[in-house]
Amino acid sequence: MKIKALTQYLESIAPSSYQESYDNSGLIVGNPETKITGVLICLDSIEAVVEEAIDKNCNVIVAHHPIVFRGLKRLNGNNYVERIIIKAIQYEIAIYAIHTNLDNVYHQGVNGKIAERLGLINTRILAPKSFSKKLQIFAPATNSQKIREALYAAGADISSSHSSIGVGNNAGKNSLGEVRLEISFSAGRQSAILRALRAVAPDVSYDLFSVENKTSNIGSGMIGELETPIKETKFLKHIKKQMKAKCVRYTKLRNRKIKTVALCGGSGSFLLSTAIAQGADLFLTADFKYHEFFDADQRIVIADIGHYESEQFTSNLLYDIITEKFSTFAVYLTGTNTNPVNYLV
Ligand SMILES: [Zn+2]
Repeated sequence: MKIKALTQYLESIAPSSYQESYDNSGLIVGNPETKITGVLICLDSIEAVVEEAIDKNCNVIVAHHPIVFRGLKRLNGNNYVERIIIKAIQYEIAIYAIHTNLDNVYHQGVNGKIAERLGLINTRILAPKSFSKKLQIFAPATNSQKIREALYAAGADISSSHSSIGVGNNAGKNSLGEVRLEISFSAGRQSAILRALRAVAPDVSYDLFSVENKTSNIGSGMIGELETPIKETKFLKHIKKQMKAKCVRYTKLRNRKIKTVALCGGSGSFLLSTAIAQGADLFLTADFKYHEFFDADQRIVIADIGHYESEQFTSNLLYDIITEKFSTFAVYLTGTNTNPVNYLV
């Protein structure tokens, strides 16, 4: 089976268009046409993981964090990123990253996995966002079907209820004999959609909108409830155990039971005000800075368990996703501890 079959499947769960603008998810090293010999899963594709892949005869590494975020101008091996890329290319190891696109999905995403481990119910995305665009086109009635077909082929959403309005029986036809077409698509398809439109109907006029949908199943963080409210210290211990955290840094307790819990794997401090606004009693995440802890201000308890600890079960999530679908190649969880942070306890 080829690498592209694997990446296409992963992106059917977490489309690459859902990644944040600063991210670099996708196939970072490797040829999508290469046949897979084995897959090694990790959070961070560090040098020791590339070596482990070589030892285990895996020619694909599936990592949560992209090893390359910014453009590389030279590959001299002067830093760990360059060394990893060079080694991966030398040994023909592909590196694929599935990062903020996996953070941003509700089903089979990073935060759903954390919520599951904590035993949360009634979960929903904490800060939903829209990745949807809508194109409104005024086109000659005779051309409308052709345009629709071209846009569907370019990735427009066929199942969308907005796919055509006012087309049947020429309803909505104006005095110029034009009909209005409305087509929805995910933001990542925008350039392909506009290219397809220009190719099939270069002269039509159109409006392009971003669709606001705050109930969307896509976005940052997650919020949910505990079936039975429990004491703050008991819940902090529960977090430590369930997330295998060496240490939990937390803010002043409020002497009230924990019922509603907000969470975000990785660096989630940007979601603090949203967690408070949505009535969370506790916000579980990582990478809070000293001064940011003050922002809890007795309105919520912040619990910071460390970046690696908050996301470590993402590897298990990816393992389950891949092994449930594919059985023609070996899949391994890395045996390498890729956490760059150590604790003296
Ligand atoms: Zn992360």
